Amino acid sequence: MANEQNIFAELIAHCKEYGYIFQSSEIYDGLSAVYDYGQNGAQLKKNIRDYWWKSMTQLHDNIVGIDAAIFMHPTTWKASGHVDNFSDPMIDNKDSNKRYRVDHLIEAHAEALRVKGDEGAKEADALLQQMDALLAKDDYAGLKKLIDDNQIKCAVSKTANWTDVRQFNLMFKTEFGAVAADNPDENIVYLRPETAQGIFVNFLNVQKTGRMKIPFGIAQTGKAFRNEIVARQFIFRMREFEQMEMQFFIRPGSQMEWYNYWKEERKRWHESLGIPANKLRFHDHVKLAHYADAALDIEFEFPFGWKELEGIHSRTDFDLTQHQAYSKKKMQYFDNDIDPATGKAYGNYVPYVLETSVGLDRLFLTIMSLAYAEEKWTKEDGTEDSRVVLRIPAKIAPTKLAILPLVKKDGLPEIARELMNECKGSFMCFYEEKDAIGKRYRRMDAIGTPFCVTIDHQTKEDNTVTIRYRDNMTQERVAIKDVKDIILKAIS
Ligand code: ATP
Repeated sequence: MANEQNIFAELIAHCKEYGYIFQSSEIYDGLSAVYDYGQNGAQLKKNIRDYWWKSMTQLHDNIVGIDAAIFMHPTTWKASGHVDNFSDPMIDNKDSNKRYRVDHLIEAHAEALRVKGDEGAKEADALLQQMDALLAKDDYAGLKKLIDDNQIKCAVSKTANWTDVRQFNLMFKTEFGAVAADNPDENIVYLRPETAQGIFVNFLNVQKTGRMKIPFGIAQTGKAFRNEIVARQFIFRMREFEQMEMQFFIRPGSQMEWYNYWKEERKRWHESLGIPANKLRFHDHVKLAHYADAALDIEFEFPFGWKELEGIHSRTDFDLTQHQAYSKKKMQYFDNDIDPATGKAYGNYVPYVLETSVGLDRLFLTIMSLAYAEEKWTKEDGTEDSRVVLRIPAKIAPTKLAILPLVKKDGLPEIARELMNECKGSFMCFYEEKDAIGKRYRRMDAIGTPFCVTIDHQTKEDNTVTIRYRDNMTQERVAIKDVKDIILKAIS
């Protein structure tokens, strides 16, 4: 793990050096847990988002996509339960004034026990079991006692001088409109903490205008905001992040069938992005959120351990029923299919919902932590060589093809520009004529460009170029007229 942690630190540095991710407002020393995506990062993020969007909408004829606003009527969040329930149990250390999420504090202690060997691992398991049971009952006094009994200390002050355990709401609030109301609370709006509610409030709009028949899904990608207390591990836990969510509307009673279907389907989808099956696992929730009757996480083995990548939640009819109650608008669907059990139409009901919810930034981090490699080898002449390479799957790599004239003269740049013009309408290309060719290849490896094409003097004679493959560094000679098709085939 120590080595993996070092590699993780190097990956973070690499993301900055090669225009993937920058700390937000870095010139002002940054804003904690907020990040900006640079020229390569924004493109990779877009490619992942597009891949998700296409697989959800284009490849499923019963799923459509929407784009709801970030601001929503404040009653939305009352109805959804977020005003009252979207909180984490927290505890403060009185000496350092540092605030911790209780589950994170206990989990960190369990990890420290685990490194002590078998006995420590047993203790850690028992501790986590007790924590889960207390969390499931919202037993805050019990959680405080567990922390005290295990003499868990603050990482900063090294003392166990704790406050009581309290709830802390994670929603950001802001004011809406320029005129101050008599009652300031009237102006409050929230920055959405999940994109899902934008789908629920539009359920009838989409169902009616799209003439959708159950089962059907509504997909959406977009920003979400959470005032996370402990924001760590780079883009894993951010205060502003992006979600890719799909709500699948189904008949009441069919939720377990769809839960099992979507959990397998989503795991398969991650594998289609090159994530190895043994790096993914399911983790069933013990404590269910206020809206769920079953829930699990698809976890990925990040360099800092197994963590949630995507949530699969059976949300029952909770959200639609709540919006029906608060808005006084019927959130019902008329199902004229025949129920074989009764021989009659299913009739009117509030649909149940199966949700798949994946963090785009977490998936980005997943792809990057799998892609990043530091390689060393011995060349034929006995000397050592090395490179840093991002093995991003070609279909989502930010730049697909680098076009490199060997020298800046003899008409080679003109041929390269012509190839660039032919290809750039179909996929992202990058043109570069500076520096020795080996150096240019290394730079393309470092940003994850899967293909480089070099135009040299032979090109002028026989219209062939060298194509060089990032992953195995092999090169072959191909006709310049075939380049575009070769790349298109490789990324499709
Ligand atoms: P966690 O337990 O890690 O806080 P969660 O269970 O609260 O996550 P969900 O509400 O299920 O997360 O959100 C769905 C997905 O959104 C998560 O699987 C994750 O990929 C992403 N996500 C949630 N919170 C954050 C965050 N603060 N930063 C980045 N991604 C996030």
